[in-house]
Amino acid sequence: LRQGLDKTRRGLVNQLKSVVGQGPLNQDAVLEIESLLLQADVGIEATDRVIDALQERLRQETLPPDQAINYLKSILRDMLDSPLAGAPNLGFVPERERLNIWLITGVNGAGKTTTIGKLAHIARKSGYSCLIAAADTFRAAAVEQVKAWGARSQVEVIANPGKNTDPAAVVFDAIASAQSRGTELLLVDTAGRLQNKKNLMEELAKVRRIIDRKAPDAQVESLLVLDATLGQNGLRQAQVFSEVANLSGVVLTKLDGTAKGGVALAVVNQLGLPIRFIGAGEGIEDLRPFSSYEFVEALLS
Ligand code: GDP
Repeated sequence: LRQGLDKTRRGLVNQLKSVVGQGPLNQDAVLEIESLLLQADVGIEATDRVIDALQERLRQETLPPDQAINYLKSILRDMLDSPLAGAPNLGFVPERERLNIWLITGVNGAGKTTTIGKLAHIARKSGYSCLIAAADTFRAAAVEQVKAWGARSQVEVIANPGKNTDPAAVVFDAIASAQSRGTELLLVDTAGRLQNKKNLMEELAKVRRIIDRKAPDAQVESLLVLDATLGQNGLRQAQVFSEVANLSGVVLTKLDGTAKGGVALAVVNQLGLPIRFIGAGEGIEDLRPFSSYEFVEALLS
């Protein structure tokens, strides 16, 4: 994580130390912090909020540079943790001995399939019984790709072998299998055709209806997989999905290859969605629960 986010950070933070620590932020300091946060793709709204909060504190009390930076970090952490305030830190916590259904959405290429494979791997390692539903039936290759990840993580994949390419039918079958086996976590790969918002919305709504009807007692999560390298474009994607998919959180991928992870702050600030996991590589082990501490340290090291 650091490797990616580190690229441009270090110099900027040192610059920052030279402009904070003299009481309230002057114009130069504000511009410096703005530039640091915008370059990390935090977005203008979240950046303004961060600067206002820092300024408010520094008007009350002169902090030495290190403490001012630490306070800045705490503002960023609080912002990242804000949707979870009052709730326990989530991590990987499907409820035991009950069916949890995690719908995984995201545009093609975001890392959806890879994330499902990684989540299945964590589930199996943590002793959960797990199944994958290959419900992205639109892309021919998607089912094969999910199966490959299923084999890698040793988790069975439920796909529809027949001509019926209805994602809802696959989800129906997968829920039936999960219920008869007492599966604890069902990961559902859904289609990510952002180009056609209406279809996407209808398809996801249909899948939700099947779940509500067939598994009314299941604990349902709806996670958006978002490519961190997209920066502010990622925010726009997240906005569309949050309108259609009733999201409960975000998985931020490809943080190993970007200095733009700040989109996490924009997503949390503007959409109020918690970041649940981060992907930092293509391997099966390269997914971990999100930690605001770790994230901010990497962003502002
Ligand atoms: P999907 O179309 O959303 O299912 O995307 P895939 O899971 O097929 O991933 C698209 C590409 O991104 C693949 O080449 C993955 O190996 C790569 N990828 C996925 N997650 C990560 C990540 O966290 N870091 C890096 N570097 N690459 C990733």
